[in-house]
Amino acid sequence: MSTQAVYDLLIIGGGVNGTGIARDAAGRGLKILLVEKDDLAQHTSSASTKLIHGGLRYLEYYEFRLVREALQERERLLNLAPHIIYPLKFVLPHRNAVRPAWMIRAGLFLYDHLACHPKLPNAQQIAMQKSPYGQPLRNDIKKGFTYSDCAVDDSRLVVLNAKGARDKGADIRTQTTLLKAERKDGVWEATIQDNKTQDQTTVQAKAIVNAAGPWVAEVLQDLQVKSSMNVRLVKGSHIVVKKLFDGPQAYILQNADKRIVFAIPYHEEFTLIGTTDLSWDQSPDALPKIDQDETQYLCDSINNYFTKNITPKDVIWDYSGVRPLYDDAASNASAVTRDYHLDLNQNIGKTPLLSIFGGKITTYRRLAEHSMEQLAPFFQYSRGSWTGSEALPGGHITNGDFKLFYNNLRKNIPFLDEITTKRMAHAYGTDVFEVLNKANSKEDLGTDFGHGLSQREVDYLIEKEWAITAEDILWRRTKLGLYFSQDEIQNLQKYLAEKLQ
Ligand SMILES: Cc1cc2nc3c(=O)[nH]c(=O)nc-3n(C[C@H](O)[C@H](O)[C@H](O)COP(=O)(O)OP(=O)(O)OC[C@H]3O[C@@H](n4cnc5c(N)ncnc54)[C@H](O)[C@@H]3O)c2cc1C
Repeated sequence: MSTQAVYDLLIIGGGVNGTGIARDAAGRGLKILLVEKDDLAQHTSSASTKLIHGGLRYLEYYEFRLVREALQERERLLNLAPHIIYPLKFVLPHRNAVRPAWMIRAGLFLYDHLACHPKLPNAQQIAMQKSPYGQPLRNDIKKGFTYSDCAVDDSRLVVLNAKGARDKGADIRTQTTLLKAERKDGVWEATIQDNKTQDQTTVQAKAIVNAAGPWVAEVLQDLQVKSSMNVRLVKGSHIVVKKLFDGPQAYILQNADKRIVFAIPYHEEFTLIGTTDLSWDQSPDALPKIDQDETQYLCDSINNYFTKNITPKDVIWDYSGVRPLYDDAASNASAVTRDYHLDLNQNIGKTPLLSIFGGKITTYRRLAEHSMEQLAPFFQYSRGSWTGSEALPGGHITNGDFKLFYNNLRKNIPFLDEITTKRMAHAYGTDVFEVLNKANSKEDLGTDFGHGLSQREVDYLIEKEWAITAEDILWRRTKLGLYFSQDEIQNLQKYLAEKLQ
């Protein structure tokens, strides 16, 4: 066991909150170590509905602070990462039985106004049967509304924050578990373990951030610290089916149980459907999987509104995650607050521990700023808030005009096919040239693993984005897992085994 230098901040958890805090703190001049026991975004932060949104339904629970902050973040994040975040129009088919039209109208009015000078179009009422949006829907639906929000590639948002943090000097270690930590002589002394070699190391840090998401309570135990706050774990699942409707719009469907389910266009050929809300009483280590009732519930939600019916047999891919919510003692899992709470524990003004409860992908950047405010008395920052105006890696797209950026890319990289260029433009933005590393032809890219995934891209993901397994590459750095055959996966695995041995 070896001992290393003293860090300012040891961050536990490589989800959106941990990496967001790492980037913010590193940019303010702090010396950061982030440890993630698995891959970046391997847990909740890759299992979301992938929306950067205010959360229309939270208005019903009077979560005005959260909705306002989330809507303001929506506008900001769209400018900071226009490659992985894009505007999405939502169609809300209306049936009076669930909520009266006046209530929806009032909610949408408030939603538009809480956003403050939105770049996105305001809500509108539409006659469904005269609108192309009504075309895939059942003909008993006469009325509807449209409003705007954004979609995000959630796992890439995490990776970009980790890259941004590393660019500012942070040490990001995946496959590394925090085993325990204790306060000793005015600093935290922590034992971390490299999961590949099982080697244990002692590190010292002036402060710890517990951004372990669903494991926030377990980490508190490892640190032998009690918190007045509790986490409430709520499972949510999604299914992906072959494209259900044409057009770029998404649908928000109101169910008889008052819950809503989204149907969102996904990777050109698919529709993403979700989500569910079920209390999760097991340990977060018992990884969540969709059950038959959830699949049926999501299929029924679709069949209640669309003319095209789906059954569980149509499901091509599914995923589940556990929301680490702040426990506000709500009786119903859907009603638990989605707002975040920060718990600062300190030892006579020293060795702080900041634990994160709750939060949304959408509000991660503000959560990081609030965390830095909480930790400010313990450090001298080299600057104040900065992440609201500096683009995330690859996001330096002129005027945020992704279409123009993509069209130029098509001209500049003629040897890539249209689908691959689009995929890479979205994934890497202006960093795409770094990925291609001066390639002038398809041959320069090396082995083609299928569906536009080249050896050069795989090497980049290993060297610059912490990828080590086929799953990291096919399901979190990209979503090419939707297309890869077993043989293609094995081929990629073989290459990774040789490369990483
Ligand atoms: C079904 C569902 C739908 C959602 N939809 C949306 C949405 O559309 N929009 C939105 O804004 N939000 C959405 N959310 C919420 C959002 O996904 C979460 O709030 C967010 O991802 C939580 O991030 P996190 O970093 O706190 O947790 P995680 O992403 O889980 O990260 C915590 C990390 O800590 C690591 N860790 C734990 N213990 C240790 C240890 N001892 N050592 C090292 N590492 C450790 C874990 O491995 C994990 O990777 C959704 C959530 C769910 C589940």
